[in-house]
Amino acid sequence: MIELKESLPYPDPQSAFFSGAPWKTMGTSAGGRDVTGLLLEHSNNAPRVFLLGGVHGNETEGVAFMEGFVREFADETWKSLGVNLFLLPVLNPDGFLGFKRQNDNGVDLNRNMSTKDWTPVASEPKYFPGPSSDSEPETKILLSVLNDYKPEYIISFHSWKPMVNINGPAHAMARTMGEKLNYILTEDIGYPTPGSLGTYAGWERQIPTITLEFERGMDPAVVYGFAREGILSSLETFINSR
Ligand SMILES: [Zn+2]
Repeated sequence: MIELKESLPYPDPQSAFFSGAPWKTMGTSAGGRDVTGLLLEHSNNAPRVFLLGGVHGNETEGVAFMEGFVREFADETWKSLGVNLFLLPVLNPDGFLGFKRQNDNGVDLNRNMSTKDWTPVASEPKYFPGPSSDSEPETKILLSVLNDYKPEYIISFHSWKPMVNINGPAHAMARTMGEKLNYILTEDIGYPTPGSLGTYAGWERQIPTITLEFERGMDPAVVYGFAREGILSSLETFINSR
């Protein structure tokens, strides 16, 4: 049995809230906190990419990546990437501020989406999927991004054992990413994840989706530098695959 480290606490969670213009408040969390996103629109027909962090509030590595990305690209620089971007760095501000997996209703937001295999039964308490699918305000925010923005490539940043988890037709992007990060690729994380974004968007709607599991316990300060090239290369692969 592999002993898993814990993620390190975020150095300054408040600094990662990405608020103020031009950030848009997408809604509020179960605990009443703002969930903010940023649309960077290149042109009407540029491919649409959705980068998502902080689904699990205690997986600080993913938010650290999003923060680094925002710091580098949220000014005019992002235009060099040739894609439209929707950035949602912290879907679960309750969990992120409280350094816990779930939102303030105790729901695992990556088990709450209305997938065909959604079940009210959790295999472990930490995976509590909510009283019904799509019950959580954060899930509704996620659905609004999928429905209104219509992303064509999604990367959701988590942390666990290091791996590039392929959901739906994301193989080419996953290969590029896995090579650069030296992470294994897998279509199967090893246990069922009903109600997850990967199942909902990737497998059931065939939107290329990658759930990137950073190695849990990485210093948030080094995550962006470690992953930058892998993520940017996968964007290039995505553009070229269209
Ligand atoms: Zn996670």
